[in-house]
Amino acid sequence: MIEILAATTNRGKVREIEKLFTPSLIQVKLYFLPDFNIMVDCPEAGETFLENAAAKSLFYGKFVPHLYTVGDDSGLVVEALDGGPGIYSSRYSGPDATDEKNIVKLLEQLKGIENRKAKFVTAVCLSRNGQIIKTFTGEVEGIIIDEKRGSGGFGYDPVFFYPPLKKTFAQLSTEEKNRISHRARAFQKLKDFLESSKEFSF
Ligand code: IMP
Repeated sequence: MIEILAATTNRGKVREIEKLFTPSLIQVKLYFLPDFNIMVDCPEAGETFLENAAAKSLFYGKFVPHLYTVGDDSGLVVEALDGGPGIYSSRYSGPDATDEKNIVKLLEQLKGIENRKAKFVTAVCLSRNGQIIKTFTGEVEGIIIDEKRGSGGFGYDPVFFYPPLKKTFAQLSTEEKNRISHRARAFQKLKDFLESSKEFSF
């Protein structure tokens, strides 16, 4: 059995990861920060998703050096905005940013711009005892549309149109989104890695 701390306070994220590991070739026991009463914020000072994922993994790993720790960082990367908002996705519209305000700012920035290509990116870092073991990334490509569609999801989902399904991410069911999302793709790679590592198989 492998015990993993997911460096997050978001129970939804933990459930998503748990689902991905059911069924699995390995037995995983997943914890999240509240399970260890860890309430400090990680200083997010990196310049890339991978740096931030690694920073979270190493920072929170210090509290539980005997466990594996997984840190993740995600965001929206828009081609016409030189990769922005990128690592600033959650705080795009300023210190009191909300999903709504972030979308308004994004659409303002893209006004009159024809190139609407964008992608969601997730970076995941697995570490233990202060050592990075491996990093993984997942991406999903789409285009930014001018009006919000759908009421599911969060963040930029209502304006992120996914051509293969002809729907925005906010129009997908949770199951559909979890099958194709950047986060699911990155965590699937983590799962494949753990399953193929001899150390964890029973
Ligand atoms: P986090 O690193 O998972 O907390 O994501 C950072 C920010 O990126 C979020 O606050 C959202 O603004 C954006 N984001 C990440 N993943 C998604 C997604 O699946 N849909 C919409 N927005 C997302």
